[in-house]
Amino acid sequence: MKCCIECFKDREIRDRFKSFNEKGNCDFCGAHNKKVLDLDARNSQEINDQNLAIDFENLIEQFTNDSNTNFVNKRHMLSDYLEKHTSIFSDSVSSEKILQFLKCLLPQQYNENPDIFDQPVIPAYLLNKDKLEREGIFYGKTWKDFKHDIQWM
Ligand SMILES: [Zn+2]
Repeated sequence: MKCCIECFKDREIRDRFKSFNEKGNCDFCGAHNKKVLDLDARNSQEINDQNLAIDFENLIEQFTNDSNTNFVNKRHMLSDYLEKHTSIFSDSVSSEKILQFLKCLLPQQYNENPDIFDQPVIPAYLLNKDKLEREGIFYGKTWKDFKHDIQWM
């Protein structure tokens, strides 16, 4: 499956797509004739070069299935969380498509830990009491802010 530049709101990710050569129709947001990344080309140099898979791998590692009852109303499906509480994806990409995208991009992680994708999660930082005072690492932030945060967590 192919994703495209229009799938993403995040400026840094969009910039990466500008260097891609392949144009086509997007399987996720439905845009036509855009710069695309073929997610099925698992050994594609582009995926490695652009570190998209690594970034999303780092992203999902920030979530846990911990069923701590203190946070019962903070549990969401990972894809719903990314749709509603981050500005990574465009509005035209639904939660269902985000889930599909993550499974396509990270098949190994999905095999190893399907619950992160298919069961409710909470951001792992909630479990860290020192960080409870903070608003939440994703709210209204850009991908770049987010990456800064995870480097310092
Ligand atoms: Zn797209």
